[in-house]
Amino acid sequence: MLTVITGASKGIGKAIAEKFASQGFNLALCARTESDLLILKNEIESKFKIQVHILSTDVSKKSEVEKFANFVQKLNEKVAVLINNAGVFVQGQVHNEAEGILETMINTNLYSAYYLTKALILGMIEQKKGHIFNICSIASIMPYANGGSYSISKYAMYGMTKVLREEMKPLGIRVTAILPGATLTNSWSGSDLPSERFIKSEDVAEAVFSAYHLSENSVIEEMIIRPQLGDI
Ligand code: NAP
Repeated sequence: MLTVITGASKGIGKAIAEKFASQGFNLALCARTESDLLILKNEIESKFKIQVHILSTDVSKKSEVEKFANFVQKLNEKVAVLINNAGVFVQGQVHNEAEGILETMINTNLYSAYYLTKALILGMIEQKKGHIFNICSIASIMPYANGGSYSISKYAMYGMTKVLREEMKPLGIRVTAILPGATLTNSWSGSDLPSERFIKSEDVAEAVFSAYHLSENSVIEEMIIRPQLGDI
């Protein structure tokens, strides 16, 4: 059984990769930096008896998403889980952010998931089985005043997840939106807040796996995860 994860070399994606590997899933992973993927592949394969397939991919480019989807399909393994995780955050406000920021956010945070899902969901529909997780954000339900285009992209990702959930109800595919608040990853490297103020990536991974682990009778449609002390 295969778990496919985008943006898997660091942060939340990496934690989810490690969790699924520990539960015996083979992995197909992408990110842009091949050397990071290779390090992760070696780390995981030395710890767990599973296979890790990697492809350097820039998911902000439709042609590269298609290449990654092709790569996954050629593995000839059933895709049990798809985790649309890759995403970037650029600070800014709608009224003054630089030209092109919206396009970058939408291409990376939304279209990547849209096109990869479209490519891989057909196999799931044939199997009448599969689970798609879209890593949204608290910014999907609460606007970040200093993350204009990011919020737009994450609201859209959340909307896409809800539509897909409705479409997949009769087809046996589960669809879950994960909405984390501030999670301690590279995205927060400039912050001087203590680590206790953040969610741990490993906790997001545990939440994802626990949602997957339910019986096929049930689906967790969305999970909101916040730091214990609340939003930053
Ligand atoms: P991160 O630590 O910065 O890691 C991002 C991962 O995505 C890396 O593996 C990165 O590798 C990859 N990536 C970035 N751009 C890519 C692209 N164009 N194509 C392919 N891979 C790409 O990020 P994170 O904080 O774990 O965030 C993961 C997801 O959670 C994102 O969707 C983010 O919006 C969401 N989220 C994060 C937080 C938070 O506080 N951290 C909160 C809510 C939601 P390369 O750079 O090598 O490509």
